[in-house]
Amino acid sequence: MKEKRSLLWFKNELRLLDNEILFRASAKASFVLPVYIIDPAQFQPGKLGFPKTGYFRTQFLLESLTALKSSLQKLNADLHVFVGRAEDIIPQLVKELKITAVYASQEVGSEELATQYAIELQLEKFGVPIELYWQNTLYHADDIPWPINRLPDTFTNFRKEIEQESSVRKIFSIAEIAYQQEIESTNIPTIQDFGFTPALKDNRCAIEFRGGEQNAQERLQEYFWEKDLLRTYKETRNELLGSDYSSKFSAWLALGCISPRTIYNEVKRYEQERVKNDSTYWLIFELLWRDYFRFAAKKFGVKIFQRKGIRNKAFVSTNDAVLFEKWRLGEIGVDFIDANMRELLHTGFMSNRGRQNVASYLAKDYKVNWTWGAAWFESQLVDYDVSSNWLNWAYVAGVGNDPREDRYFNTESQIRKYDPKGKYVRHWLADNIDVSKNTHESKVIS
Ligand SMILES: Cc1cc2nc3c(=O)[nH]c(=O)nc-3n(C[C@H](O)[C@H](O)[C@H](O)COP(=O)(O)OP(=O)(O)OC[C@H]3O[C@@H](n4cnc5c(N)ncnc54)[C@H](O)[C@@H]3O)c2cc1C
Repeated sequence: MKEKRSLLWFKNELRLLDNEILFRASAKASFVLPVYIIDPAQFQPGKLGFPKTGYFRTQFLLESLTALKSSLQKLNADLHVFVGRAEDIIPQLVKELKITAVYASQEVGSEELATQYAIELQLEKFGVPIELYWQNTLYHADDIPWPINRLPDTFTNFRKEIEQESSVRKIFSIAEIAYQQEIESTNIPTIQDFGFTPALKDNRCAIEFRGGEQNAQERLQEYFWEKDLLRTYKETRNELLGSDYSSKFSAWLALGCISPRTIYNEVKRYEQERVKNDSTYWLIFELLWRDYFRFAAKKFGVKIFQRKGIRNKAFVSTNDAVLFEKWRLGEIGVDFIDANMRELLHTGFMSNRGRQNVASYLAKDYKVNWTWGAAWFESQLVDYDVSSNWLNWAYVAGVGNDPREDRYFNTESQIRKYDPKGKYVRHWLADNIDVSKNTHESKVIS
């Protein structure tokens, strides 16, 4: 039988547990080469002046890659990290190493798809297929009860039908990888290579996000089992301060250090061993929102990035760079909005309640182009996820999947409800921190 030599292209599934591409490649190939590619274009400043991927997400990515490399090394394999364009590097590796199949996850983002198509085109010349697997949602794309172009327009309809019609698939695990050292081991770039100065931890942060599968598992262990916080999640999830009010799984989910199915299984175990209540259900409910946006991104493609949104609805706004800059740096003079924006600026994280309020303020009070706000979140959020970010923004701006036409977050009433004693605002505004820290010199890594 012909030897199967596979290239395993890691992207946003930086884990060993429940990784279908790893499972499939390991089952079929006599040689598996795990690869990750850092594209410098993803770290360059865009037209608004800040990098597409900012400090916090870059740092989290590097930690996650380091962790994955070390886990693979424990299985006598390795992770080969290259810097460049995937559409150059993958065909080159395929040719040099006589690879016979490339394994990768299916994408929904238009940039990611463009890269994938470019690679497919090149690999056709060598007769090498890309085997694509759907990963990183709770429900598999093949199990949703509609063709993608018939995905319901509202989350409620999506949720009700999927809960009735579909079930969550089993997870994958592997015991070994067929790997031989055929090329030299590579180093993972440092944060300085991206032009960032390492920032000191800001002690006011909600949680210290550290990348990698082990850290994701530890957070799950802490949130569910040690602190027993899952039983009250529904009541606390809209709070603003500290590590305990919500799971903080988002950054690990975004890079795939943990899969939503692993979290789901653990919720089910918790329901059996501790308690089953509205809160345990609600965490799954939120994971369904994440699924919904991922499927909606698949359905609507490039429209999710457009100012008129997926509804092609006129969004009257200005491109007021001065207002935007004040908003971005947390200097508009409305304490609640500024406090949230400072949290994002200094830590790369913001609560869901905060995100809704600051997004609404930019889009609905300031009437500034919401896509600029989404671009800043893309740069700054440690948990940036293409579909969750752009479709949440579109939703709040009134051009997304919101069945309500007139949703508006009134800052005054939000403060009365969520920060009545000003604790959150004081936490972030009682400081003299220089907001220009974490600057980026726009260095090109090579
Ligand atoms: C304007 C705006 C932008 C956002 N951008 C992102 C983003 O880039 N990446 C991201 O992961 N989330 C994004 N969210 C959704 C949400 O704010 C975060 O997922 C959540 O705050 C992360 O904290 P957590 O993990 O503690 O959430 P928890 O409350 O513990 O929720 C558990 C998980 O459910 C998912 N989830 C919860 N709420 C949502 C939601 N509204 N949409 C999609 N998934 C959700 C997340 O994966 C989250 O980790 C955005 C929301 C808004 C309003």
